[in-house]
Amino acid sequence: MKYYKLQDFGNDYLTQTKRVSPVSPAANPRQFPKALFLFLFLLSLFTSNATTIDVHLLADLKPVSVIVSVASGKYVIWADGKQMNDTLAASILEFKLEGDSIVTKTLERKLGTFKHITLNALLPASTLKLKCIQPSTGIRIYDNDLLISVDRDQLQVLNRVDLEKYVAGVVEAEAGTIAEDEFYKVQSILCRTYVLANMNKHATEGFNVCDGVHCQVFRGKTKDPRIFFATNATKDMVVVDNDLKLISTTFCSNCGGQTVNAEDVWGKSTMCLKSVKDTFCTHMPHAYWERRVSVEDWKNYLELKHRFPVNDSATFSTALNASQTGRQVYFSDHNLKIPLKTIRTDFLLKSTFFSVVQSRDSVIFKGRGYGHGVGLCQEGAMNMAKLGYTYPEILNFYYRNIIIVDRSKLDFFKEGEE
Ligand SMILES: [Zn+2]
Ligand SMILES: [Zn+2]
Repeated sequence: MKYYKLQDFGNDYLTQTKRVSPVSPAANPRQFPKALFLFLFLLSLFTSNATTIDVHLLADLKPVSVIVSVASGKYVIWADGKQMNDTLAASILEFKLEGDSIVTKTLERKLGTFKHITLNALLPASTLKLKCIQPSTGIRIYDNDLLISVDRDQLQVLNRVDLEKYVAGVVEAEAGTIAEDEFYKVQSILCRTYVLANMNKHATEGFNVCDGVHCQVFRGKTKDPRIFFATNATKDMVVVDNDLKLISTTFCSNCGGQTVNAEDVWGKSTMCLKSVKDTFCTHMPHAYWERRVSVEDWKNYLELKHRFPVNDSATFSTALNASQTGRQVYFSDHNLKIPLKTIRTDFLLKSTFFSVVQSRDSVIFKGRGYGHGVGLCQEGAMNMAKLGYTYPEILNFYYRNIIIVDRSKLDFFKEGEE
């Protein structure tokens, strides 16, 4: 991964003094009292077909000091509802938490102490460089607007970003930059479906999603034109079920040759997340794994945690050599019904799709796949894309009873509902 050096916060914008059009202070939401802002935010979730989303940046870091500069385009800065001098938008700015306020500085001087800062993009293609100083991160580039405020003992940094630009950034952060175009299209549709289904995940905190694994990893603007193209080629497309509801876009790294019914992992059945045989992932990197434990440990575990009759030698021998050729839910046939997912958790296994084989004083878990196995199998989908399958074929293979639809048409059908 390429990291920019600090000097990339160049001063070529310092000379840019052209006056930009003033924006009405009323356009800056941060001047409103927090309760009113929250109310308007919640209202907007239900009244608008949102094309921008508020992403909580640096969510896992507790930032107290960040620096920001313009990478491209034009910005105006608002501090507590007042527009700052135009030329400052071309400076390198530092925002540092002190007490319950944000001390704002350029390289040369202190500008003041504020509660809310907004960097408003005046052009759609405007981007900002953001670097967290405390704690330290590399430089990341973000599209559109940045909103900085105080959240108890840390800065709250939000990126108000166009949905499609956000989706492209998530695809790069979550899928890397070495996959096929059709796989990026699959990921774009799934990332978009996920975020639209989870717009109020952080509503009580005043934003839509965070940039960590809790929601979807987002490290800013994509640098890969192929990802940008794939997102654009699937613009506004989402996956819905037969009731036109956005589906749960769950996925795993590798299903080991067969995906799992949602109810077998989470207890709740859905029409879309059904077990399918998958031959596309069986030669991929995470197709197989092994883990060895002592017979003694295995015996103690079964006896102490599950009251397995380990002293019955005939019964215990079935626990030393148990094969699983197709996906099963339970380890034991003996009334005990030990959930495979419990064994997976207790022994930190990569999946529940394993057989047990005795080898002298050890038992070897011979496993297949990586992850819970529900939904799309990433390595299988990557291989399908490589073999020439299209994104609708890939999505329809892993998710059942789905419709891939433009979300604007979805609104039309929903409005037509009685
Ligand atoms: Zn989150
Ligand atoms: Zn698979």
